[in-house]
Formats: sequence, structure tokens, C-alpha cells
Amino acid sequence: MSTDLSAQQTTSLVGATQAGSAEWLERYGHSVMGTYGTPSRVLVRGEGAHVWDAESNRYLDLLGGLAVNSLGHAHPFLVSAVTAQLATLGHVSNLFAHPLQIALAERLLELAQAPEGSAVFFCNSGGEANEAAFKLTRRTGRTRIVAATGAFHGRTMGSLALTHKAAYREPFQPLPPEVVHVPWGDAEALAAAVDDTTAAVFLEPIQGEAGVRPAPAGYLATARRVTRAHGALLIFDEVQTGVARTGAWFAHQLPALNGGEDIRPDAMTVAKGLGGGIPIGAMIAFGPENARRLSAGQHATTFGGNPIAAAAGLATLHVIERDGLRENVAAVGDRIAEGVAGHALVAGVRGHGLLRAIELTQPVSAAVTANLLEAGFIVNAVAPDAIRLAPPLILTADQADTFIAALPAALDLAAQEN
Ligand SMILES: *Cc1c(COP(=O)(O)O)cnc(C)c1O
Repeated sequence: MSTDLSAQQTTSLVGATQAGSAEWLERYGHSVMGTYGTPSRVLVRGEGAHVWDAESNRYLDLLGGLAVNSLGHAHPFLVSAVTAQLATLGHVSNLFAHPLQIALAERLLELAQAPEGSAVFFCNSGGEANEAAFKLTRRTGRTRIVAATGAFHGRTMGSLALTHKAAYREPFQPLPPEVVHVPWGDAEALAAAVDDTTAAVFLEPIQGEAGVRPAPAGYLATARRVTRAHGALLIFDEVQTGVARTGAWFAHQLPALNGGEDIRPDAMTVAKGLGGGIPIGAMIAFGPENARRLSAGQHATTFGGNPIAAAAGLATLHVIERDGLRENVAAVGDRIAEGVAGHALVAGVRGHGLLRAIELTQPVSAAVTANLLEAGFIVNAVAPDAIRLAPPLILTADQADTFIAALPAALDLAAQEN
């Protein structure tokens, strides 16, 4: 691989030939801001569901760049779509339109089952998509917002106001006011918090950063009912759960979450998995009234709808459909959930499709994650007692089985150390 053209070009850009992980991490410590702590490995290439570190160790990537690499790494269709677009027209600004951005907006509206008159605002990240949704809510003429405990909606000042975790919020106060957090999953508390002064309710259909916690049965339906009754907007944050991650195009379309009801939000945000690794975000406003809340001049971002990002989005959605990846997600996700059960340290598995948390009976997720990394598997200690999996949607049953086979030893070792 080091002899191919792209690897040579990368090598010439970084000006180093044989630097190892230790040297890179030393340089990281002197140049990259310490907001992420010390990274656990230096990764240099990927292919399919695997990545390799600077020492050429191979890992099965069961985190997918935090639910981003939908098609795995270096997927040929995504690579060719993005490189062809960059070689044709890489950026135009929003003073001009581009066919790919229009086609991607149309495709997203179709997959979201958005009614006639709906519209998409493109941006570059999940936080930015929620920022756009936050601004949309201001155009109702109301300012009160209801979100849930455990919610994670991003780190920009507006999206941070929606995020619940005190450690993320407190150093940055004051944040935009009038956001209240009601206990996640408690339909009565949610209904009691919404009244005729409420601008919007923001919910993740499955809370991701809180540890992969699906909305309980009937919760999303209650949210839809009470917001409609009080003229408030219902906004689904599908930044982590969207784009086939759970086996449905969007998680709120799963019968397990909507109880078989046809629940559609007033707006939905997506990002992470949409570009397969190229940064992109989108806010979809449902119906003409919501689509027109932000008028010309009221919101903008320079890179929004960039042709390269739009090509990546279209390519990702195309391959998911062409290769039947939603079915794969459902099947492989269930296989993992069944396969990891039965160990004394495993209390259960939460989530849907390929967004899962393995619940542990002891708070040893950091040790289990470290043991798995040593054994060649990348997972995420999302909570002290939960391990998150968000692998590429192309993960095969055989690859899943290698993880299922490796997990017990990683658990046993962590239990001994504890
Ligand atoms: C990751 C995430 C965000 C923030 O997205 P960024 O691209 O990191 O800004 C927002 N909401 C949810 C549900 C997320 O998982």
C-alpha cells in the first residue's frame, strides 16, 4: 500500500517517511489542541471495515469514525464519486446552484417521506444542523425549548444549550436561555412541559452519546401529539441515528420506535453518516410552513451544499440502496446482539441495527475497550458500564463473528483486573 500513488502523496505532504506512533503522538501533543485528550492510536489507512495504525497493526473498526464511515474505508464508489467531482468542480458558493446539491436535497426529502413543499438546508456538521434547527424555532415567535436529560445535540453555543451534560455546558455559560431538560423517556413529564409558549421539542429517537438509549414505546408518538396540540415544533436529531444506521433510513421510521404510527417531525437534522466520511450536515424542514420559516438572508454557511460533499452524500445513499445495506444492518446488528449475550459481565444489549451498546454489569468499559484494542478491535466506552458499537454498514456476518469470538477474553481480563 505504501507504494501506491495516494500513499506517496500523503507521505510527501507530511514530510516524514518512517515516523512511528510514538513520534506522531509527541508531535500531536505540541501542535494539536488538547480538547480530545491523547488519542489511543495513530491510524494511517483503511479498507472496508478495517484500519491500520502506523505500526501496520490491523483493527476491525466497530466504531466507524463515530458512526460516520457508513461505507467503511476507501469504498471504491465513494472514492470515485468524490475524486471525479473534485476534478470537475469542487466548490461554487451559495451564490450559485449545483446539480448534485439539488439531487441530494430531493433524495433526502424522498427518504424522509417529507411532504410536498418541504426543503433542505445544507451545512457541514451535526452541531451546525442543530444550530440551523434552533434558529428555525425562533421564527415561530416563541422562545421556550424542551429537550431531554442525557441529550447530546452538539458543542456550538446554540446546540450546547440543547445538550444536557453539565460538564459540557457549565464552563461556557451563559448559553442561549429558556431550554428545559425533562427526564428522558418519561412521556408524562414531556407532556407536562409543553404548553402554548413552547417553540419546540428536540429529541434524539435513540440517545447516542448518553449510551445508546432508545425512546421507549409510545414516547415519540406522545411528543408528536403534545407538540401538535400546542402548536410547538417537533425536531428529531438524527445526526447519529440517521442514514440507515438503525436499519431504517431514519430511526423514527422504525416500528420499534414509532409504534407503527406514521410520525413525522417538523424538522430533522442529519450529519455523521451522510457523507461516508466527507463532512456534511443537513436540516430538513417538513412541509411548506416550516420550509419557509428561514427566508432569504436569515441563515447561511459558505460550504453548505458544496459539490464534493453533495457527491459524497449521493454516493453514500446510492450504495446503501444498491447493496441492500439496510437489510445487512438489521441482520448483522441482531447477530451481534444475540452473539454477545450470555457472558457474566454482559447485562444486555441496547439499540437497533448497527447502533448498539453492550451493557456491562460492572463499570469496566474502559478496560474492556483497551483490551479489545490490543486484540485488534475498535469499540467505544460510551459510559463506564456500556460499550458502543457503530460499525460501517457494510460489516459482514463473518467480521461480526470475529468480534463475538474475541469479546469474552476481553471481558474476562477486565473482570480480573477490576
Ligand atoms: C455527534 C452528534 C451531534 C454533533 O455533531 P457534530 O458533527 O459533532 O457537530 C449532534 N447530535 C447528535 C445526536 C450527535 O450524535
